[in-house]
Amino acid sequence: MKQSPVTTDIDFEAEGVHHGHLKLPHSDDRSAWGAIMTPLAMIKNGKGPTVVVTGANHGDEYEGPVALLNLANEIQQSEVTGRIIFVPMMNYPAFCAGKRTSPIDDGNMNRAFPGNPDGSTTEKIADYFNRTLLPLSDYVLDIHSGGRTLNFVPFAAAHVLDDKQQQARCEAAMRAFGAPYSVMLLELDADSMYDTAAENQGKVFVSTELGGGGSTSCITNEIARTGVLNFCVHAGALKRDVVVRESVNVDMPDGNCFITSASTGLLELTADIGDTVEKGDLMARIHNIERTGVDPILHHAPISGIVIGRHHPGLIKPGDSLAVVGVLVD
Ligand SMILES: [Zn+2]
Repeated sequence: MKQSPVTTDIDFEAEGVHHGHLKLPHSDDRSAWGAIMTPLAMIKNGKGPTVVVTGANHGDEYEGPVALLNLANEIQQSEVTGRIIFVPMMNYPAFCAGKRTSPIDDGNMNRAFPGNPDGSTTEKIADYFNRTLLPLSDYVLDIHSGGRTLNFVPFAAAHVLDDKQQQARCEAAMRAFGAPYSVMLLELDADSMYDTAAENQGKVFVSTELGGGGSTSCITNEIARTGVLNFCVHAGALKRDVVVRESVNVDMPDGNCFITSASTGLLELTADIGDTVEKGDLMARIHNIERTGVDPILHHAPISGIVIGRHHPGLIKPGDSLAVVGVLVD
């Protein structure tokens, strides 16, 4: 396959703390011979595992960028064994626009894998991760939160994999992250995700959902920060005291976990994220917004469990994810 059009000024074999960019040529009205310059940091100290941590895979999810921009300035070479690579804003054009997807090509980074060196801007960046950064890595952490349209209890996530040994290593890394919730996450659309690309290359992969609504909180920023440090320590790439946090285990056995709206209206949730619900409990009313005197559409809990995610904006449309319910595991 053709060489990636993405280049970097960082030598991945060079010892020390390095701050540079991934550079992708991009010509537009603003800059005729311009480039997309995605910030990148690497801390390398001798031989050891390589950890790759990303934020803003979706541009409106901010816990990852906050944590990684702080830690890139803070972690010393002497604390590291091996190599830690931070890309705080993975979909940089989307991040700069405050959007989930790229304003250049509408590209959703987490639906663009394995990428394409001849494809759209987003596919070119995905291809660089797939063929350059993932092969360098042993442990991969991708920090998501809900963005502008979703909100989640703060959780780290792993997936059910065919390779049960690999799955066990991913689950151990998920627990090491130390989020308040640990979720065996069911993906509705896994084929073109970064997660799947990393898992297909045999990597230990963990993702997160740490909040949402298009901003951060002190609590979710702290969970991201300690989670990144805990993950790097677990990988054997960092010497730090770990922050131990109680974590609730949650499973998602099947598609019944997802409640999807079939109507337009004003959303009134009757269960918040973190609440437990019994199958059949009322979870939401969707009110008609064109007139009074109309009964609202009711949504009930499809299973018994804990509400781990919800639609964030006040208005909802057909096809929007209304809520996500997971099953508590002892
Ligand atoms: Zn995301």
